[in-house]
Parts: sequence; structure tokens; C-alpha cells
Amino acid sequence: MFALVDVNNMYVSCERVFRPTLVGRPVVVLSNNDGCAIARSNEAKDLGVKMAQPWFQVRHLGREAGLIALSANFELYGDMSSRMMTLVAQYAPRQEIYSIDECFLDLTGVQGDLVAIGRDIRATVLQWTGLPTSVGFAPTKTLAKLANHVAKTADRKPGTYPRQLAQVCNFGELSRLDLERVMQATEVGDIWGVGKKISARLNEGGIHTVLDLVNADVATLRKQFSVVLEKTVLELRGTSCLDVDDAPAANQQIMCSRSFGEPVTDLRSLVEVASRFASRVAEKLRQQQSVAAAVHVFIRTSPFRKNDRQHSPSLTMPLGRPTADTRLLISAASRAMEHLYRPGFNYVKAGVMLVDLQPEGHEQGELDLFAGTLRTDQSAVRPDRPRLMGALDALNRRFGRGAVTVASAAHEGSSSGYTAKQERRSPRYTTRLDEIPIAWA
Ligand SMILES: [Mg+2]
Repeated sequence: MFALVDVNNMYVSCERVFRPTLVGRPVVVLSNNDGCAIARSNEAKDLGVKMAQPWFQVRHLGREAGLIALSANFELYGDMSSRMMTLVAQYAPRQEIYSIDECFLDLTGVQGDLVAIGRDIRATVLQWTGLPTSVGFAPTKTLAKLANHVAKTADRKPGTYPRQLAQVCNFGELSRLDLERVMQATEVGDIWGVGKKISARLNEGGIHTVLDLVNADVATLRKQFSVVLEKTVLELRGTSCLDVDDAPAANQQIMCSRSFGEPVTDLRSLVEVASRFASRVAEKLRQQQSVAAAVHVFIRTSPFRKNDRQHSPSLTMPLGRPTADTRLLISAASRAMEHLYRPGFNYVKAGVMLVDLQPEGHEQGELDLFAGTLRTDQSAVRPDRPRLMGALDALNRRFGRGAVTVASAAHEGSSSGYTAKQERRSPRYTTRLDEIPIAWA
């Protein structure tokens, strides 16, 4: 059995922990430079705010409906994520961190009533961190994702699914008929990894619900779509066949994380791991033509090695200027690792995650101005950008940080050149001493 533990509306929930006045109000968190909505509270969803919708399109809802917009605070979210992951890790010997707010637990060998365990996970995470979660249990990862979707939706929209499936949903204890009813009530587009394009094509072929897909002919699906979709169907039928590597990517994040075969104790190996993971995620980032504005790095010891001292820190490094340059990402990830590492601990897992993603074109305007003076052929600017970045880095390393910067960025009023527009960012409550919350008594 697998569990999927997922924080509800993660970024908004992190903000609400420290600003309880935001509870019950429509809230969105905006991407780097306050561009578009990357997280929405349920109330904001009910107002019709869409994922990734530009802020200027919904700004009027601020006046009309009290919609509150906040700048993304990835340092806070990364730290809260780390706290939540550490708590959840205690419930099963194998935890696979899938995104900033989701992890799978492999419950092989875990005894007891799963729903009770799920409720305990929820209660503990809520009490210790203030974050609300949903938990789904099922024999495969794709089904566990679906169970989690049901747990969340049954809670948020009463009437869609049986009430007792809200918050914690265990497919393992549903009768075949009940499971089919749930699948019948769920659109095919809600399945993990079935995107808009595929679900549109499936709809055309008469496949609308999860149950339709489960009953479809796999051989035909493989021919018309892909092996990946075939695997998805097998998983929905209860046959586990999805590796970490062919699991569909999370929205808005790119992650590479692994458990080590043997505990790792030295910094050099960990920096090597961080570099390798960083170049892997950089590659994926460029494949999807995005840039990242922050790198989140974590290492963990194992709570199941009872005699070991525990240390599971994480750090979110803002990149200033969003980038897809492997060298910048490696350098940020390595520096983060050097900062996290403490001698004398048996680390069993590490991860590098790119967060605060945006389409590649966004940052281009400022760069082109500079690049155009180096190359008159504008079409050749793009492939040369890594070299430009490399040259900038080298100069800055030699003459000090911020010695050379992009001309158009310098007049943004910061000595280090570029600063993202973050007019609505909350304090970094948990990671900066000078920003800790003040309580008046
Ligand atoms: Mg979530």
C-alpha cells in the first residue's frame, strides 16, 4: 500500500499559519515579480480565479470581493515543507518526496488501521506546523493520488463523494462497487499525469470518467497514446508499475531526490550529489522552456535508524534573476548543501527542487538589451546566453558579487542588480531572526 500526503493549498496555508486573519478569506499567492496566481485558497477558487491566471485580470476582485494577493515567499514555504516532511517521514520506512508539499509513503510492513494512521498524520502535521493536509491510501501510486484527490474534494465540495471519504480516504477498504462509483464520479482529467490535451483526446474517443478509462482496452490506448498512459491504466486497475523516474512531473516544480544505498557522511559526496541533481533538474527545466527563480535543497537522516542523531535541514536559495543555466543552478545547490551540512550525521537522502518556475521568455526583455550589443544578430542571442551568464559569473567571482550586472537591472535600486518585484511578500518568519513573528500579550 501507498499513502499520498498532500498539503491543501500549500502556499496559502503557510501564509495563514502566521496570519490567521487570512483564514476564510479569498487569498492568492503570486509568482515571481507578482505576475500570476500560483496558489489559491478555496475561497479564491470559488471566486473563479484560475491557476496561473495573470494578476491584472483578477485585480478588480480585490475591490469587489476582498481578494488578497501576496508575493511568493519561497523561503517560508521551503522551510515549512521541510518541517512537514520530517513529521510525515516517521510514519513509514520509505518516504518519497514528490513535490514541495506532497510525499508518498510506502506502507509495506506497516501494521494497523490505515485510516487511523492517516488521521494521526493529519492531526500531527496540523498541530505541529499548522498546515492542513489530505491523505489518500491505495495499492498503487496513481490510485493513491486519486484517493488523495477524493479526500480533498469530498472535504471541499460536499456532495461530490461520500462524506466519510473526506480528509482521509482509503481505497483499500472500499468495496469494488463503491470504488467504481468513485471512479464514475471523477473526470478522466483529474488522473495524475493525464493533462488537458490527453483528456480532450480521450473525451473525443468517448472516455470521460476514470471508470471509462479503467475499462478501456490497454493495447488500443498504447497504440493511440503512449506506454505511459498504458501504465496509468494498469496502475488504476491496481497493478503497481510506476517508477519515480517515469512519474509525471509536479505542477510548477521540478524535483530530483534519491535515497542513498548507504548513509553518506562527508560534505564532498553531498556536494557532488547536489551538483548532479541540479544539472538533472536544469535539463528538465530547459526541456519545458522554463526558468526558475529559486532552488530548494534538502538532506535528511533516517528516523528509523534509532541510534543516529537526527538532522534534516533544508534551504531555499533565491536566484535573484530567474535562470535555466546549469552552472548557476549547480552553484546555488552546492552552496546550499555546504550551508546545510553538519559533520557527524548519517544522511540517507537528498533532494534538489526548482521552484518559482516561469516561462523562459519572461526574463528575456532585460537581457536582450545587453546581449544585442554583443551580437548584432538577434536570433543568435539565445544560444549564447549561457556564455554571457558564465562571463558575468566569472567577473563577479573575481571582482566581488554585483561588480558586473545587466545594465537595465542596475537601476532597479539594488546594489546586487536585479531584485524581483515582491511588494506583497510576508516576513520569512521561520528562517530569519529579524523577521520572527511578534506576539503581543
Ligand atoms: Mg497540495
